[in-house]
Amino acid sequence: MIKALLARLKEGCRTGAFPPAAPSLPPEFRGRPVIDADTTEEDVRKMKAVCPVEHALAFSNGIASIDMGRCIFCGRCAEASPKIRFTKEYRLGVFRREDLIVKAGEKDYTPPRQTDREARALKGSLHLREVSAGGCAACELDANVLGTPAWDMARFGIRFAASPRHADAIYLTGPVSANMQTALDKTYAAMPEPKFLIAAGACAISGGLYTQGNLPAEPALFIPGCPPHPATTLEALLRFTS
Ligand code: SF4
Ligand code: SF4
Repeated sequence: MIKALLARLKEGCRTGAFPPAAPSLPPEFRGRPVIDADTTEEDVRKMKAVCPVEHALAFSNGIASIDMGRCIFCGRCAEASPKIRFTKEYRLGVFRREDLIVKAGEKDYTPPRQTDREARALKGSLHLREVSAGGCAACELDANVLGTPAWDMARFGIRFAASPRHADAIYLTGPVSANMQTALDKTYAAMPEPKFLIAAGACAISGGLYTQGNLPAEPALFIPGCPPHPATTLEALLRFTS
């Protein structure tokens, strides 16, 4: 017993300092992209030629853009053209689908603030029902680590709930395959009001590399990535209720 206690004391606190400290991101991390203002249609054509996702890149009215809701952050476009770069900006969660579109020439970025009073009322007590609707499991695994001692999202009152009847929001991952459509719809229907849908990852937001099924409601929070980094997810969830 003494040995076990001493070993536990020696372990110390394993929970990271983020937040409020900045997250420790791997060198390979790709965050919010920036596109040069003078990016041409030909530049976008070159990038599109290597992009595995349909409609992630666009050129419209003389302006290049990237849709973070479709992008899987593979970095191929940045290898094909110096006109696009991926920054270390990890605060990618937004409350409106259109805010996932990054246009050429945009430089300054401030993450949007929550204005929904019902979402803000969940600060300190946000219960999520995970629905894995045909994803590859990476989104689910990176959400799972938020419950480990390393991230410990429960210290902010954020927890995964065992039943939709105890949940404030669905944490949706995956493109909503045909076999998961009914389960998703029933889960959403079983939740008490007010209820929210959170779309985590390119698959849940847009289908990503796949064809998307039907979402039971407009998501109240979009967390882009493939998968979203745990720091991106935790920051987004905290801002969702702040
Ligand atoms: S990083 Fe995104 S936009 Fe660029 S090639 Fe990959 S999926 Fe396409
Ligand atoms: S968004 Fe990417 S990581 Fe998440 S389920 Fe889809 S393919 Fe997997």
